Amino acid sequence: MEGGCTAVPWNAWYYTRMLSWLKQSLNRFGRPAVTEPSPAPGPLVIPRDRHTISRANISGNALKVLHRLSKAGYEAYLVGGGVRDLLLGREPKDFDIATDADPEEVRHLFRNCRLIGRRFRLAHVHFGPEIIEVATFRGSGAGDGEEAAGGDTSENGMLLRDNIYGTLEEDAWRRDFTVNALYYDIRDFSVVDHTGGMADLEAGRLSIIGEPGQRFREDPVRMLRAVRFAAKLGFRIDEASEAAIHELGHLLREVPSARLFDESLKLFLAGYAVETFELLRHYRLFEHLFPETEEALSHEEGNFPLVFVARALENTDRRIDEGKPVTPAFLFAALLWEPVRREAAMLREAEGMTPIQALQLAGDRIVARQVSRVAFPRRFSLQAREIWALQERLQQRSGKRPSRLLEHPRFRAGYDFLELRAGAGEESQELATWWREFQSADENARKSMAAGAPSDGRRRRSRRGGGRRRSKRPAGSPAE
Ligand code: ATP
Ligand code: MG
Repeated sequence: MEGGCTAVPWNAWYYTRMLSWLKQSLNRFGRPAVTEPSPAPGPLVIPRDRHTISRANISGNALKVLHRLSKAGYEAYLVGGGVRDLLLGREPKDFDIATDADPEEVRHLFRNCRLIGRRFRLAHVHFGPEIIEVATFRGSGAGDGEEAAGGDTSENGMLLRDNIYGTLEEDAWRRDFTVNALYYDIRDFSVVDHTGGMADLEAGRLSIIGEPGQRFREDPVRMLRAVRFAAKLGFRIDEASEAAIHELGHLLREVPSARLFDESLKLFLAGYAVETFELLRHYRLFEHLFPETEEALSHEEGNFPLVFVARALENTDRRIDEGKPVTPAFLFAALLWEPVRREAAMLREAEGMTPIQALQLAGDRIVARQVSRVAFPRRFSLQAREIWALQERLQQRSGKRPSRLLEHPRFRAGYDFLELRAGAGEESQELATWWREFQSADENARKSMAAGAPSDGRRRRSRRGGGRRRSKRPAGSPAE
């Protein structure tokens, strides 16, 4: 053995090359036949006149980055959702670029460039509000998921570098779905396909690259991504991936809650929330994100919770379609409303709390439990609690209260929420209509509406203690 060692040119370069080659070969053998390309080496290359991508539909800034990299002698490809969506005739959300230039080399080419990430560094090239993400090809040793190995730096920089960065082909095999691993080559405008993405795109099929169980274990968020793309593209998840999702959904519980928050926004605020929600429930993934909501849905009475959540999501999709703003707080408030309502009812009955007290305490409890799963930042959970508290305040229509309530910073969201509840049959239409009219009425009409409104505080008026406690917080002030 020792003799063998001396015969080898024993330096780090050689060693790391061998290691990466070996890993690559091992990875290849581990892959099942279904996603393995034909034994003939080399990718499928679709020339420019055989596909539908036109530069006219690519962001000018992305083209600038691609051309500059290419002129400097590097390989440069558009990749990921940009290529996938262009091939499907859809408008891409963003444009990602893959290159063989390392991040430092990218930075030298662009003044407006920042490097992010620790172990696997990415270059962000800034053009005003648009950011073009440039990633160096990942090699087989680059770790998985989102910077799972952050901070894992080696003393031997060269060893690490060689493991992290790789070739286009290695980069393709490390991506999640075949349809996300298509590369548009800026040199000749062809599309390079190593993993069978073109065939899947044509078949409307979402296939994970490699062995599904292994890839979902490496990064369970890929299960959520599968659902998100299936909903957005109207694609069918292939059978092997489906089976693995059914089996491995529980792994989502091990994903950091901050990452699940980011993913939840992509799931519910991308314009396909209704389909996404249905698929998440179908694959039993939703219960790992919002367990108390799932539990409440299983107790639905007269269809109410399901209709309410579905309407809230429909409403969100509609607003996005119309270019109106949407806030994660409203989504959060809607998804958790039923658990909050149930908890509040329990507190009223068991502890004798006033409705507003019960609602506030229930909100605190549900939020505290939920954020350990999906970490909605505090600014959103505070707003959600205000929206919930407003549901009780909107009951109070007499005297000066309704006019003061209009000044509440969250009034509009609270009122929209009330409309949704009324639409779902959980609150009276009469109340929602009253508030709609009250908002558009002039000063005098408002006065007479408030004078003629049914006396509120039904249950509370008779309970003076509750009334006194309530008076500490002036009507119209934020609930928090
Ligand atoms: P969209 O931007 O439309 O939501 P996308 O496919 O571009 O979809 P991004 O999150 O922008 O999704 O990621 C860009 C690309 O990076 C993906 O297409 C995929 O190739 C790769 N990728 C992203 N996340 C993962 C992951 N968890 N595992 C493997 N590859 C991933
Ligand atoms: Mg993208």
